[in-house]
Amino acid sequence: MQLARFINAFKRLETPFYFYDLDILDQTLRLYTKLIRKYGYHAHYAMKANANPQILEIIHRAGLGADCVSGNEVQLALDLGFDPDTIIYAGVGKTDKEIRMSLQGDIFSFNCESVPEIKVINDLAAQMGKKAGISLRLNPDIDAKTNKHITTGRAKDKFGISGKDLTEALEVINSCENVKFLGLHMHIGSQITDMDVFEKLCKKMNTFQKWFEQKNINVEHINMGGGLAIDYEKPIENLISPFETYFETIHHNLEVRKGQKVHFEPGRTLVGQCGFLISRVLFVKKGKEKEFVILDAGMNDLIRPALYNVRHAIYNLTSESSKNKTYDVVGPVCESADRFDEAVKMKETSRGDLLVICSAGAYGQVMGMRYNQKELAQAYYSPDL
Ligand SMILES: *Cc1c(COP(=O)(O)O)cnc(C)c1O
Repeated sequence: MQLARFINAFKRLETPFYFYDLDILDQTLRLYTKLIRKYGYHAHYAMKANANPQILEIIHRAGLGADCVSGNEVQLALDLGFDPDTIIYAGVGKTDKEIRMSLQGDIFSFNCESVPEIKVINDLAAQMGKKAGISLRLNPDIDAKTNKHITTGRAKDKFGISGKDLTEALEVINSCENVKFLGLHMHIGSQITDMDVFEKLCKKMNTFQKWFEQKNINVEHINMGGGLAIDYEKPIENLISPFETYFETIHHNLEVRKGQKVHFEPGRTLVGQCGFLISRVLFVKKGKEKEFVILDAGMNDLIRPALYNVRHAIYNLTSESSKNKTYDVVGPVCESADRFDEAVKMKETSRGDLLVICSAGAYGQVMGMRYNQKELAQAYYSPDL
């Protein structure tokens, strides 16, 4: 695999640590931005996927804006030099302090998720003598057919404004002097593999657009959110998500009016595959029914398997055995949920071996925590090692 050339360097480092292969990030960004330019779209990186400053710097340099879900994310984007005109702020629960910070920073758009939120943004903007750009995040009631924990566009999910509240939302916008209506936004979930879902999303957007047009309201901006999946099963073979197919699907199904701007908020799909969690085997333990590989990395470093019950590909980087065996791969944290995967087939493993957990670039390091008073994992980068 592509990590082979780094193994000697890995052996000298304290584990566990995150390793970012910046060549992979570059390759991914090059294709993504090429297609964005081809279609004349606009992209805003969803910072919550990975807010590591080095990664953000590279994405900023590639010309993307920032999609934020908290005041501190907005502030970080501003501090790193993202143009305020490219910063978007979504989230169902924006505090007054966070709204004020974002108004202060003159960001492009608040993606509003409820009618009361529009009123609060208007009041705070009035107090500060500002006019806030707002978009409506719509809940289209579409099942993204992904993991239930990361589905956001069904009627029963907490996100977005439902169709039945649109008339009221418009009345409120019309009565508010300190907000300016920019357009419509949808983000229906994450790790979406099925292109039919994106086709449906486009068709819903077309319907919503018509509703606004019938009321003679100009929808200048359309934001299709993020959500495109990466391949967790075959990360080595499928390093880059099917961007061509994705954008073709959008291009063929979304009705774009003259002068309208189309936006995207990619997160996972840009950074997922460039990140690896490298960990050392502490013990190999034969239980009564299973054999456990116990790592020095745990759910405190990468919580996705414990939180969402999902799998990451795991390989033994250093074993020279020709035998394959089956293990449960677990962490050291005092929780039974601290388990990376069950029945993993890999090379016969012994104490001291280095294992890699792949596809850890998105929702990995950024979700790291100090539970059990563990240290936060360090990060290293490919050209520097
Ligand atoms: C999380 C999030 C994204 C990014 O989702 P990915 O699946 O990582 O692409 C985009 N937009 C909003 C509003 C989000 O909350």
